Amino acid sequence: MATLNRRFLLASRPTGRIDPEHFRLVESEIPEIGPGEVLVRNCYLSLDPTNRIWMTDRKQYMPPVQIGDVMRGGAAGQVIRSNNPAFPVGAIVQGLLGWQDYAAIGAGGEIPLVRLPKGLPMSIPTAMGLLNITGFSAYFGLLDVGTPKAGETVVVSAAAGAVGSIVGQIAKIKGCRAVGIAGTPEKCAWIKDELGFDAAINYRDADWQQQLKAACPDGIDVNFENVGGAILDEVLWRMNMRGRVSLCGLISSYNATDPVPGPYNFSMILMKRLRVEGFIVTDFAPRFREAAAELVKWYAEGKIKYRETIVEGLENAPVAINQLFDGGNTGKLIVKIADPPLPVV
Ligand code: NDP
Repeated sequence: MATLNRRFLLASRPTGRIDPEHFRLVESEIPEIGPGEVLVRNCYLSLDPTNRIWMTDRKQYMPPVQIGDVMRGGAAGQVIRSNNPAFPVGAIVQGLLGWQDYAAIGAGGEIPLVRLPKGLPMSIPTAMGLLNITGFSAYFGLLDVGTPKAGETVVVSAAAGAVGSIVGQIAKIKGCRAVGIAGTPEKCAWIKDELGFDAAINYRDADWQQQLKAACPDGIDVNFENVGGAILDEVLWRMNMRGRVSLCGLISSYNATDPVPGPYNFSMILMKRLRVEGFIVTDFAPRFREAAAELVKWYAEGKIKYRETIVEGLENAPVAINQLFDGGNTGKLIVKIADPPLPVV
């Protein structure tokens, strides 16, 4: 087992793309734990578009990461020392464990530590996607914010990504027509042929707007928006009367250096009496158990399939994160740090 703790500190705030120079890698002693805390050997680090938001100091939904602090990040790992009976040695946990090998952490916080039950019908990386922020965003963002009804048309952008790939499958479970927008022919084939979306559109095709129109012959009732920009504009144009826009993310603007213009088709919100609602998944924290139970059931029944893109080595996180902005990932982007060192309890 490693004897030092490698930690990525935030060294500077990016303008534009993330670069390794925005982080500083330091090695320190493995931390001691205080009362109620556990020491976690981080095994898998989740790379998320929101990491880019946390690196800035613009107005956001959590405090920005401060220069010199360990980079904030979701991760899963194994408890190797414990002062908390709810998290015994050997338990697999996930939470905001940070870009580091070891985390000394208490149970509370905005995104609290949770224990993964032993015997889940899925791997740890799959649970990190499905039974955490990503899966819960898809679940609540679609069902509670988008409020789809059977027979309606749901369009989701970044549809082959971590959140989007689940959204389309839940839409199908609820009897909707699911249309996904993604950036490569391979991603489109995956969501249509393997995940069961009704149609998939590659927004890099010259005629993608015509393809979207053809894929939504009855218009669009629910838009699950992950991207913003030109995609949001085109979808707004095709929304039906009293349609709903569940605003989950705006990834096309996270690396922007200049102010981003608002949607050009903003007037459609008025003309079609749309409801546009942003959400942050932690709004639904009291109901996370409900979502987890449904998602596990659907996964076990084969109604939801899931995929991860796994990069080996904590040291590669500062480069790997750009896959999210270049479209390199299919499904959830994860960095593997280590195998769990102890038998799992
Ligand atoms: P993904 O796994 O979907 O990865 C991001 C994908 O976005 C890329 O693979 C790429 O796919 C696509 N993308 C990147 N840049 C662009 C662009 N300029 N135009 C079009 N597509 C682009 O990430 P997540 O599923 O983790 O996150 C999806 C969205 O959900 C993000 O906006 C994120 O911020 C948001 N989110 C919001 C939460 C909330 O609580 N509101 C919680 C979790 C996520 P492609 O090849 O198709 O271009």
